[in-house]
Parts: sequence; C-alpha cells; structure tokens
Amino acid sequence: MAKGRVSFFAEECKACELCIHFCPKDVLGLDMENINALGYHPVTALLPDNCTGCGICAMMCPDMVIVVERA
Ligand code: SF4
Ligand code: SF4
Repeated sequence: MAKGRVSFFAEECKACELCIHFCPKDVLGLDMENINALGYHPVTALLPDNCTGCGICAMMCPDMVIVVERA
C-alpha cells in the first residue's frame, strides 16, 4: 500500500469538512482542541498512518489548505 503524508495550512481552513468526507481512509478530522485565525476548528490528520497519498483531499479542498506528499 502506498504511503502518503498530509500537511495543512491550518490557518486557512474553513472547516467545511469536504476533505474529511471524501478521504477513503478516514485519515482526516477536525482538531477540536484548536481554533484557527478564522475562528474554526481546523482540519488535522487523526489517523496519519492510514494515508495512501491518493491526493483526493487536496483536490476537494476549495481553499487549497492541504498538501499531500507521497513517500
Ligand atoms: S491523501 Fe488520500 S488517504 Fe491521504 S488524507 Fe488525503 S484523501 Fe485521505
Ligand atoms: S476541505 Fe479544506 S477548508 Fe474544508 S475542512 Fe478540508 S481543509 Fe478545511
């Protein structure tokens, strides 16, 4: 299984949850312990080891918050 790593421009996230719903590996969720400059709980990787690097999350995000790297 391919491995990937996701990182975020968390301050830009509007918590729309599109990326969360489209990730086939349930990697993503909202970070309920932090609030960004826009006033939202930003997206984070809750299960980073599950990421395959497919890139779907980055394609779905309307604000280009997510960067995907493939290992
Ligand atoms: S790259 Fe694919 S597997 Fe990894 S977080 Fe994004 S949608 Fe999920
Ligand atoms: S799609 Fe983009 S703006 Fe929406 S929750 Fe995901 S990272 Fe945040």
